[in-house]
Amino acid sequence: MQVPETFDYERASNIDDAIALLERHGDEARLIAGGHSLLPMMKLRLAFPEVLIDINDVPDLDHIRIDGDEIAIGAMVRHAAILDSALLAEHYPIFRDAERVIADPLVRNRGTIGGSFCQADPAEDLSAVGAALGGSVVVRSSSGSRTVPMREFHEGPYETKVGDAEILTEVRFPIRNATGSAYEKVERRVGDWAVAAAGAFVQLDGDMIADAGIGLAAVGADHFIVPDAEAALRGKPAIRESFEEAAQLCHDQCSPVTDQRGPEDYKRHLARELVLRALTRATARARGEES
Ligand SMILES: Cc1cc2nc3c(=O)[nH]c(=O)nc-3n(C[C@H](O)[C@H](O)[C@H](O)COP(=O)(O)OP(=O)(O)OC[C@H]3O[C@@H](n4cnc5c(N)ncnc54)[C@H](O)[C@@H]3O)c2cc1C
Repeated sequence: MQVPETFDYERASNIDDAIALLERHGDEARLIAGGHSLLPMMKLRLAFPEVLIDINDVPDLDHIRIDGDEIAIGAMVRHAAILDSALLAEHYPIFRDAERVIADPLVRNRGTIGGSFCQADPAEDLSAVGAALGGSVVVRSSSGSRTVPMREFHEGPYETKVGDAEILTEVRFPIRNATGSAYEKVERRVGDWAVAAAGAFVQLDGDMIADAGIGLAAVGADHFIVPDAEAALRGKPAIRESFEEAAQLCHDQCSPVTDQRGPEDYKRHLARELVLRALTRATARARGEES
């Protein structure tokens, strides 16, 4: 039986309380949200926090709402709520695509968007969705809130811009016209982590691509973003040839490794194919041809 090292447990009652507890216990403390990444790591003795600070009682972190010209998603919103959100399905169907293939209902009922983003596992599906959409992440400390652009939030595998005494409170995505988004994933069996996955976002200006975003999962440590592929799409006609050029750049620039989920060249092939499919579906949605 796998058991973690011993640890102390605190339950935060609000955001300020969580920050005060983080400051009091220093870098030996970790927040716990859904616990579906942190607890497995503790059981495998890959993480050894001396104090867990539970944020499940913290209010005002479970909203999905329009705020000005953005959609704001609280850090404690569970995967299941994202899957069920009509607001997200209307503006960003990529979330529904991704959530349908994240783990199983047990994990989706507990795991949170804040935990997913902060875990920063290179195979994390929601982080690839965020990379495709852009937007921003709101992080709070005792000195106040700061906003980090989504594309700068992930610094590398398991590394983010959230400091020791900080809490991610919200992720925000701009609402834009004439947009479509989609997520494609290949997994070994239902509910598994990705062998490879790709998210795509497009904004159309007539028949042309005004803006585009691509997020990759499970194909490398320098994960999630492929700026050259996005740049190759902007200003191009929204046709298969443009998508193929971007997909080829993703194939060339990702850095998968051979492991139990498959060989490196197979994952590279998947990156190209899944980007192509995600761009095609995102564009169909932007044109209103698919929901
Ligand atoms: C069997 C299984 C299968 C899974 N399959 C998939 C899959 O296919 N795709 C996928 O993407 N994910 C998968 N997951 C992971 C799942 O999505 C987790 O829910 C998610 O990765 C982490 O969310 P959490 O709320 O559980 O975070 P936790 O485990 O509670 O926390 C993760 C990390 O984030 C930190 N943290 C949490 N919230 C905050 C916050 N608000 N501010 C600052 N730091 C914070 C914690 O301190 C910790 O370091 C799977 C998990 C399991 C157990």
